[in-house]
Amino acid sequence: MKIVKTIDEMQCLSQNWDADIAVGFVPTMGFLHEGHLSLVKRARSECRIVIVSIYVNPAQFGPNEDLSSYPRNLDRDLALLKPLGVDYVFLPSNQMMYPEGYKTWIEVKEISSLLCGASRPGHFMGVATVVLKLVHLTRPDFMYMGEKDFQQVAVLQAMLKDLNVCTRIVPCPIIRESDGLALSSRNVYLSPDERKRALCLYNAILLARQMYQDGIRDPQVVESALREEILSAGARIDYIALVNAASFEECESLEDDSRLIMAVYLGKTRLIDNSALLA
Ligand code: AMP
Repeated sequence: MKIVKTIDEMQCLSQNWDADIAVGFVPTMGFLHEGHLSLVKRARSECRIVIVSIYVNPAQFGPNEDLSSYPRNLDRDLALLKPLGVDYVFLPSNQMMYPEGYKTWIEVKEISSLLCGASRPGHFMGVATVVLKLVHLTRPDFMYMGEKDFQQVAVLQAMLKDLNVCTRIVPCPIIRESDGLALSSRNVYLSPDERKRALCLYNAILLARQMYQDGIRDPQVVESALREEILSAGARIDYIALVNAASFEECESLEDDSRLIMAVYLGKTRLIDNSALLA
């Protein structure tokens, strides 16, 4: 497993990828857990070359968000990646990614201003910009990303398509704790009490799936039941949305391709989760 610390070195490597071998890339912000590792394992099973990046991208954090407290543990991350047979770990620095005078930003219109984009202005511009830079630097055929960040996958798929980038995103399933909480680097922020109450997200998913299975098709009926579920756990709702999984338009009537997408606060910690209704 080779550690790559400079842009020059990453570019030298990627310019020499053989055209007929599959290159897989897993971008992360580190503090790795089984969710990240599932992407790496999938990439390892499908590609000849596997690259993982670890980079906490300041451009995707708002001024009052958790950039400075975002959990980091590089030694542990490297120890987790090594046994998985990763070929390259790319560790760019802020200075390299955004040197003084940096001016260029990628904006994916419409979808970037909904849901998480409405709550976190500029977030998806930061994500799209860093991911396009990382894709240029690593030149992957496939980029493995978690459906945990369902809207992020949609934003980046639109960007790659619009900008004629040949890299394809491979969306991978959400990995959960045994009780259902989606794994997230931010779960370490939760107090024991918040950790228990955070289960309201998964309970809301189970409730939505059950209501759909029971034939309820009115999104407002489902949404108000989910609100009650989450509020009764003492969580604060950022948003609850029932949208078409492809267009992100709000559902008028629930269908097999409807998706529940949510963001809630447990204390100061913002958690997201989502699920298809057809389980
Ligand atoms: P992050 O380090 O949070 O930027 O996440 C890096 C990648 O890991 C993204 O593609 C995430 O969607 C993915 N990821 C994070 N948590 C999970 C999870 N619980 N299950 C599957 N993928 C995940």
